[in-house]
Amino acid sequence: MKLIKKLKNKLKLLSHSGSDYYCPFCGYHSKDWEVVGHDLAVLREKEVIGGGRRAAGCYKCQSRDRERLLYAFIMEELKLPESKDLSILHIAPEIKLSSVLLDQHFKEYVCGDLFTPGYHYADYVKNINVLDIPYPEQHFDFVICNHVLEHIPEDTKAMGELFRVLKSGGKAILQVPISNNTQETHEDFTVSDPKKREELFGQFDHVRIYGQDYSTRLESVGFKVNRINISNKYKKLGLNPYEDIFFCEK
Ligand SMILES: [Zn+2]
Repeated sequence: MKLIKKLKNKLKLLSHSGSDYYCPFCGYHSKDWEVVGHDLAVLREKEVIGGGRRAAGCYKCQSRDRERLLYAFIMEELKLPESKDLSILHIAPEIKLSSVLLDQHFKEYVCGDLFTPGYHYADYVKNINVLDIPYPEQHFDFVICNHVLEHIPEDTKAMGELFRVLKSGGKAILQVPISNNTQETHEDFTVSDPKKREELFGQFDHVRIYGQDYSTRLESVGFKVNRINISNKYKKLGLNPYEDIFFCEK
């Protein structure tokens, strides 16, 4: 059975190989991307970026468009590894991205996640609650926290914590699923039924769908927000043309 699976996988990679696209995590060159994600009405209607069913997966390592965007921004645009003297906090670390960052041997690279029963965490990940980060003020030069805030009712408190542990002049990448056609964030904390949450917010454990006012919330805790789009520059990585990086500064 294992051999058949291996063979099938090999054939799949052969049939999709090409020169149009490229995955920076595994190096696979392809002519297209695998269709991934859930097709939900609310994600379609609200044109939610960072979710929904789309051709965005690497056939070889399963990386997603949004992970490749982070790779391009951190490794190619910011060239973060050129400054080894950085203290970095990475909340809910994307496994492929954190492997790349671990290899850079920064002065400090802390990975944290709120440990939840039933989930597995890599041994370099610490149990950290983003509402109460166990580090002093002005500790980190750089914070990465993606697709976390939409899970937390007290999201501005979490934003405030991320802001607190960041040094003055420090930078943060804070991505969330965001509606492309809605101004106002839609949230309702009285909804706790997982099925209803999926229907309203696009995932069983999300408590909101952010609108374009997401930046205003970040600014309310003190961040200066820069929205940056690099999708045109990295066409080979198959990025979502509408996905901006929320690059925040203290
Ligand atoms: Zn890949």
